[in-house]
Amino acid sequence: MKQNPRIAIIGAGLGGTAGAALMAKAGFNVKVYEQAPAFARIGAGIHLGPNVMKVMRAMGIEDELNRIGAHPDYWYSRDGITGEVMAQIPLGDYAVSHYGASYLTVHRGDFHKLMTDALPPGILEFNKKLSKVEDLGDKVVLSFADGTTEEADIVVGADGINSKIRDTLLGSELPKYTGYVAHRAVFPTPLDSGALPFDMCCKWWAGNDHMMVYFVTRKKDEIYYVTGVPESTWDMSKSWEPCSKDEMRRVFGGWHSSVQALIEGTQEVTRWPLLERDPLPLWSRGRMVLLGDACHPMKPHMAQGAAMAIEDAAILTRCFQEMGFTDLDAVFNLYEANRAERASKVQLVSHNNTWLKTNENPDWCFGYDVFTTPLVDAKKN
Ligand code: FAD
Repeated sequence: MKQNPRIAIIGAGLGGTAGAALMAKAGFNVKVYEQAPAFARIGAGIHLGPNVMKVMRAMGIEDELNRIGAHPDYWYSRDGITGEVMAQIPLGDYAVSHYGASYLTVHRGDFHKLMTDALPPGILEFNKKLSKVEDLGDKVVLSFADGTTEEADIVVGADGINSKIRDTLLGSELPKYTGYVAHRAVFPTPLDSGALPFDMCCKWWAGNDHMMVYFVTRKKDEIYYVTGVPESTWDMSKSWEPCSKDEMRRVFGGWHSSVQALIEGTQEVTRWPLLERDPLPLWSRGRMVLLGDACHPMKPHMAQGAAMAIEDAAILTRCFQEMGFTDLDAVFNLYEANRAERASKVQLVSHNNTWLKTNENPDWCFGYDVFTTPLVDAKKN
């Protein structure tokens, strides 16, 4: 392997972009290929825990995120019908003093834009849909839908739940529909919040349904909700579909007046299938390696899916920095040994949808530091 091999990242989602930024900062020769022609500010929010904000610090965008994002004082869990507090987890100043970074909620589009803007010029190419990848032993050939080809020495599959790189390593297989959908809406904060003022960050729970609600701007002028609601079937040819206020009224009829106020304030709402895969038997082979949803897609109920993709990217970069590029099998084994257990744990807790429903201690998740946690030896794992 060359001293400074050509690293191609497929997919400039949240994991791929973090990987490209961190690898470029480390001085590596990295390029990222994204199928989309550009990114839009789609209607979704995202939580950025202290574990992610430490990676944003390394990327140089922590301060700007702190400036634009909302800083929830607590994560509340409330009974969806009565509004009674079931859990109150301290965030805000406590997160900064206890975990060493903020806990933020932001607009996903604003976050993604800040990340892509942090990339050095010329390393991100849009309109590059990977259609075929061939590991020839001494190099990898990437073929794109626009008829072009590129060569690389290492390929990182950060291409999401329907990853072409995963399919190449393990054979083509659709992800599993979990039997749940998520409704998502971002809209101007309603003036009337029902019987309670809006909490900065609150998950409402009743029966098998929930609604997670938080602000996506520091000014608190935009609010977001994302639900989890059982629905027996989903047409797998669609990645989402439009929904309506009437459906929201029907599903959440009888819920607390704060939830009703949100539904009445909704401008546009969409519905997304919640998909998963079983843990993969391998994360890498030869010159190709996976990260994020390409290897451990999960239900979003811990709000840590993107966080796991970003942590993967940081640990993979760290493994390259510590081990170099002479023995890729050893580097990729070290990477997997340091990611599989944590990602699987987050996947399982997300699947069970129990996170912060009661007053549990979230230190193992929020307190993790990708840069200082000692690396576990791959052989001993
Ligand atoms: P993605 O973000 O899916 O990025 C993959 C990229 O690869 C895309 O840009 C795609 O266009 C590109 N791509 C795909 N195929 C190709 C190809 N052939 N060629 C080139 N490019 C390609 N996570 C959190 O941490 N916090 C949250 O609050 C949160 N909320 C969520 C709410 C919902 C309803 C859902 C469904 C998920 C949520 N998640 C959340 C999870 C999070 O969105 C994912 O885990 C995260 O986006 C995974 O990042 P990724 O980079 O691995 O994949």
